[in-house]
This record gives sequence, C-alpha cells and structure tokens, in this order.
Amino acid sequence: MSSLLIRNGLVIGPNSQEIQDVLIEDDLFVEISPVINPPENTKILEAGGKWIFPGVIDPHTHMGIPIKSGHSADTFASGSRSALHGGVTTILDFSVLESGQSLTESLNTRIELAGESLCDVGIHVNITRFEPEILAEIPELIARGFNSFKVFTTYAEANMMLTYDQIEAVADIIAQHHGILMVHSEDNDVIIKASEPFAHGKETHSRYHGLSRPAKAELVAVSQLGEISARTNCTIYIVHLNTAAGLAKAAEYPLLKVETCPHYLLLSDKMYERADGQMFVSSPPLRTEADCEALWLGLQNGQIHTIGSDHCPFCLADKPRGTRFQDIPNGMGGVETLFPTLLAQFMERHLNLELLVRLTSRNPAKIFALDHLKGSIKPGLHADLMIVDPWSIADDWESRLETSLDWNAYTDFPALFPETVIRRGGIVASKTLDGDISRGTLLKSSK
Ligand SMILES: [Zn+2]
Repeated sequence: MSSLLIRNGLVIGPNSQEIQDVLIEDDLFVEISPVINPPENTKILEAGGKWIFPGVIDPHTHMGIPIKSGHSADTFASGSRSALHGGVTTILDFSVLESGQSLTESLNTRIELAGESLCDVGIHVNITRFEPEILAEIPELIARGFNSFKVFTTYAEANMMLTYDQIEAVADIIAQHHGILMVHSEDNDVIIKASEPFAHGKETHSRYHGLSRPAKAELVAVSQLGEISARTNCTIYIVHLNTAAGLAKAAEYPLLKVETCPHYLLLSDKMYERADGQMFVSSPPLRTEADCEALWLGLQNGQIHTIGSDHCPFCLADKPRGTRFQDIPNGMGGVETLFPTLLAQFMERHLNLELLVRLTSRNPAKIFALDHLKGSIKPGLHADLMIVDPWSIADDWESRLETSLDWNAYTDFPALFPETVIRRGGIVASKTLDGDISRGTLLKSSK
C-alpha cells in the first residue's frame, strides 16, 4: 500500500473551505481532518495554505469524433493528457452510432478507443436513430452502468435528429429505468427557416453562422423538452445551453438540468468579427454579451448546474478562412483551459469558490450517478485533486499548454493552472506534467 499525506491545504468543498490534512492510501481518500498523524513510510506533501480542489469532472468532451472531412483534432490520448494539465481528472465522452450499428456495438467501440484516456472516463450513449431494436437496448445498457443517453433536436441533414415525439418515447423508457436523457437543444425548424437566406449563397463570413442558428432555436427546443420532462418524469440534461431566453425557460421546469460551456461564458459573438472568426464557429454559436452575463447570473442563482467544455477542437488548417460558413467544421477546444480560466474569472468577479466546486465536480458526479466514486474530497472516494497556488495567476500561460493544437481561444484571458494534479492517488503533475502517466479507468454509474 502507498500512502500520501497532503498537509495544511485549504480544502475547498461544495459547501465549505477549511485548512485540512488529506490522507490518501492507494487510490482513495481515507481521512480529511485538521491534523493527521500518518502511518509510517507516508510520503508528505506540504501544501502551505494553497488551495485544494477536487479533480474536475468534464461532463462533455468529443475526443477524435468523425466529421465530414476527418476527425476532431484530439485523440483520447492527447486530449486527456492536456485535460490533466488543467486539473480535469475525469472526462465523460460520447459514443458515435454508425449506420447499421446497435447501441451496444457503438458503445463497445467507443470504450475501446477510450482505453487510451489518461483521465478516468465515462461514456454517454448517443441515440441518433429511432428504431424499436435501439429502444430495447436502453434498459440493458443502464443495467451495465451506462445510464446517460444523448439525442439531438437538429442535424436532420446528418441523420442525427429525433423528432420531439421520438424524444418523448426515449425519455419515457429512460425514466422508467432511472437513467438520464441529454439533449442538444436547438429547434430544427427554426434553424431551417433562419438558414433560408443563405441556402444558395456563397457567404463565407462566420457571422452568418450565428444568424442561421438564432437564439429562438434554443428557446423553442428547451420549452418542448421542459414539457417532455414533465410528462415523462424524465430528468433531461440540456447540453451547452447558451442564451438568456433558453435559461429563463429551463428554470421553469424542475426536471431540467442545465450545462453551459466556458466559451459561452467568456466569448461573445463579437469574436466572429475577428480575422480568425471562423475558428469560433461552433454549434450552438456564440451569443451576445448580454447572453454571457445572463449565464454568469445563472451560475450564481443555481439555474445552471454544470460546466462542460464540449471539447471538439480543430487546428487552423482544419478551418481555413474563406470557407462557406456551412462547411466550417463546428467545434472548439477547451478541456485544458476550462478550470484555469474559470477560476481566474471567479476570482476577478469575487465569486464563491465553493460554487465552482459544485459546478465542476460535485454536480456532474451527482447528475451522472458517479458520486459513489467521485466528485468530492471525502473518505472512500477516488483521490482526485489538484493543488493551486492562488498567487500564480498568469497572463502568459499559453506557452505552457500541453495541447497539440495550434490555436487557443482564450489567449486574452488570465488563467490559474494547478501546480499539482493527483488522479486516483497518483501524482500526474507537479509543476509540469509527468511524461509517463498510466491510463485512466472506465467509469460506470451506480444503480
Ligand atoms: Zn458536444
């Protein structure tokens, strides 16, 4: 058995912060208290009042997913490595349902790829076809420990969309088996109508991407999904919510859980006017500054429950300038910068750090039924944590990024990176990331 004692850190929990010692044995937390006398041969790490946060659970990544012309730029190996540098010790990614595949086959394929991940990893199951055989698989998958399923209210052209009636049928089954339904919530009809003026044109400016997917698309979809959650009693998790109107609507329905992303909090649609505006094309698009501020309020008043990166990065060459906006691959990177940039913003805005812990660790663990394993610094849970030196907030952090990507959206923001990162009891970063990190484990939800 190996034991590690972290002394005198300010342990920041979901509801409190206190100077504590933290004792880890093998991969678990065993004791957290003001003074611990460690067993013999315990390795000691002096935290000297620095901040200790639980490892971040990023509930939304897309490592190496297929797009029209290739794959998103990070593999599980490269993306998870950069994630660890930013304090993310767990990622939750998505299966990809290819034509002719069963849900089980798609999940098993994804689990194999995810075996390369250096973070612990869970997989949400994408349902992009509505067939009786597919629906019949849902209860077995929940029994296997895969209880989260994702559907799309748009992307009809890519054969990924389910109608609201089909989504309701899926929600009904998931609710009966105590799973959770995740939904990409942009109404397809609203998008088709708003896209009409650009359908035959040659518009290359990325601002048209935003105009073709207006805020109303989110409002309409969220309102439909709220009603579905009420009728079926299914918990519905709205991924990457990003408008003030969508947020206000979601707050009317107690069974809706809301995720937003760093790019919707930090970046507005003004980015589309930059020379590299095409790099900010993602779906849903970036919104107005007023929407960003509404999201910041939503974090504080409990209307937003989690922050996911929606990590789906592309390099400069993947998104050439001058491409028709419809042909630009959608997505941005963000798993490595998620926590460091948000922590710096929380400090600037004088927001409560316990709130940040709820949003980035405790809530995703609870919502996805992983709280028997993770999400807090508590005896019996996986020893995932990071130590942050609050005096090391920096503007010149970009050169220290671990990512293999050649473009970063957050250059203009301060960031506070952890100096030590521990994943299931193993130190994976101390000042710099370890060169040889063992692989993460596959996570299953509790029943
Ligand atoms: Zn996504």
